[in-house]
Amino acid sequence: MAMTDLHQTGPAIAFDNSYARLPGAMHVDVLPTPVEAPALIKVNAALAHELGIDPAGLTPEMAVGNLIPAGAAPIAQAYAGHQFGNFVPQLGDGRAILLGEVLDRQGRRRDIQLKGAGPTPFSRRGDGRAALGPVLREYLVSEAMHALGIPTTRALMAATTGEKVYREAVLPGAVLTRVASSHIRVGTFQFFAVRRDQESLAALIGHVIARHYPQLSGTENPALGLLDHVMDAQAALVARWVQVGFIHGVMNTDNMSVAGETIDYGPCAFMDAYDPATVFSSIDSYGRYAYANQPPIAQWNLARLAETLLGFLHESREEAVRIATERIEGFPAIYARHWLAGFRSKIGLVSAEDGDLDLIQALLDAMQMARADFTLTLRTLSNGQEPAALADWLPAWRARLARDPQGPEEQLALMRSVNPAYIPRNHRVEEMIGAAVERQDYAPFEAMLRVLMTPYQEQPGAEGYAEPPDETDRPYRTFCGT
Ligand code: AMP
Ligand code: MG
Repeated sequence: MAMTDLHQTGPAIAFDNSYARLPGAMHVDVLPTPVEAPALIKVNAALAHELGIDPAGLTPEMAVGNLIPAGAAPIAQAYAGHQFGNFVPQLGDGRAILLGEVLDRQGRRRDIQLKGAGPTPFSRRGDGRAALGPVLREYLVSEAMHALGIPTTRALMAATTGEKVYREAVLPGAVLTRVASSHIRVGTFQFFAVRRDQESLAALIGHVIARHYPQLSGTENPALGLLDHVMDAQAALVARWVQVGFIHGVMNTDNMSVAGETIDYGPCAFMDAYDPATVFSSIDSYGRYAYANQPPIAQWNLARLAETLLGFLHESREEAVRIATERIEGFPAIYARHWLAGFRSKIGLVSAEDGDLDLIQALLDAMQMARADFTLTLRTLSNGQEPAALADWLPAWRARLARDPQGPEEQLALMRSVNPAYIPRNHRVEEMIGAAVERQDYAPFEAMLRVLMTPYQEQPGAEGYAEPPDETDRPYRTFCGT
């Protein structure tokens, strides 16, 4: 595509832009809006290598979109979505521009996107920009999730723009370079379904299958296979969230990736004291996206996906509805399998007994009663110590461990491999953001990121990152990262 004279074309990256080649209704060509004074905050060298990109060649100009690497075909993707249950037929990339796709060193297709690079035809009244705080939050938390072993979008670069963004306060502007298996959402399917654009929908289904679930191509009912696979990926993902106390905070259908990655780190936060009703987002007044509601909300979102696929599931509408309903009703059982497998490991078990679910539930109830810190309690147990709050629960657990084939050392090693010592604690995230925004001090960002890269390993001097906040730091509130 033609570049305007505002843009220099940078060194080539081996892009292969398959989404940009899909029918025109699915995306719009758009260029980043150049900014005043780009400055790099961080380049993720390890991720750059993984993508086959030389990190030394990643410049501040590239990180903000002033310079577009040769081979890019910048587009904004169209999507719709249910936001807090209300359908919005047109959302789309309003402040994100997809530069293109690369095949990484393992041959996996990865999107490279600039978030906060200026307005697009989908910006509505927004400025297309991002503030520094949310950019640092997303960089740190998404990379922490990756280090925890949880599927997620990644952060390749963060840079400041030298320009201000106007929110409730005047804030420094920044751009995040986000990497994802794709940015295709449940809401992408909804965009075409609501327009009865079966042609684009068919192209989208074909693209998603080829890209994320290639084992389905040539099968008898690929759309049904797609629904099954997305359901399983989401069940696995939400179970992983729940197992580390992660609360996404804005599980709208436009924020649910069909690749099964965690996406959109706006109001997310980790729970400290165990309480299934925990909500952090300031706009989630009814607790729709509370910790314990995440599995049923995932099911609700998947039902919205199933609706878009009806025309592809069966030629009879009635039969298609019956098939889809049956699949969606199966979600709780699929989720329960992932949940139980994960929590068995968290309490050191490799075998399965009927009573395990009750044993795990009793542990969670005891933590809730004691307002015990979720992460710290499980890590303490993993280190062979026995928290006082769990005194009544411990005998049943010890008896169960004795019936498990592994020895005590192996049991604790398993627990330490799944119960992190370090998560991005909210009070530390806020401190980190405050230092960067108020004093241009990125040392806390770097220090915290370093600790979070090996979350399952105690690190000398990092004790402060393992501790829960003082009671006075509660309740914690998050805001959508606009
Ligand atoms: P989010 O809350 O980040 O999931 O975004 C919901 C929708 O609002 C998406 O279509 C975004 O592209 C759009 N949006 C959010 N912030 C901005 C902004 N600052 N400028 C333009 N569009 C935005
Ligand atoms: Mg979003």
